[in-house]
Amino acid sequence: MSRRRMSLPLLLSVFLISCENENIVDTQYSKTGGQSCIIEQKTSPAARQGDAVMDYEIMKTEEEWRELLTPEQFHVTRQKGTERAFTGEYWNEKTEGVYHCVCCGQELFDSNAKFDSGTGWPSYWRPVQEENVQLETDGSWGMIRTEVLCRRCGAHLGHVFNDGPAPTGLRYCINSASLKLEER
Ligand SMILES: [Zn+2]
Repeated sequence: MSRRRMSLPLLLSVFLISCENENIVDTQYSKTGGQSCIIEQKTSPAARQGDAVMDYEIMKTEEEWRELLTPEQFHVTRQKGTERAFTGEYWNEKTEGVYHCVCCGQELFDSNAKFDSGTGWPSYWRPVQEENVQLETDGSWGMIRTEVLCRRCGAHLGHVFNDGPAPTGLRYCINSASLKLEER
């Protein structure tokens, strides 16, 4: 019994010490990394959802994203969700045009690189511009995959695989909920 009574204050003090250490690290980092960068990260929790803390051109709070997006769009893009196969708006879409990021409007994929992958998700063999997307290693669900994000706002888009068609051999497997098609 006495050990139990001792453990709570002990745990609390460990917790407080670890919080203090975090502050020290942040302070040290801000001296070398620049104040504006640190302030943005602290006020934008959405940017902390990814594995890496990134600075994006478009950064909003979770509440701001919720106001802009439908619940499914929010779940996919800001919480790294996946829509069910064959249920999204664009998996079988043939209209010519450019697919933009539903969060920030960034041009992501062109219909001229879209192909029928049979997976039930819109699939492309290349993005409009390599630099418009960000690739990150994703170790969730017991698999090592490459996550595809919008480089401008950090929206989760989907994953890229090495079993796509020529000429790239890549398959960008993307959620319809992260895209908005602008027809040509
Ligand atoms: Zn975006």
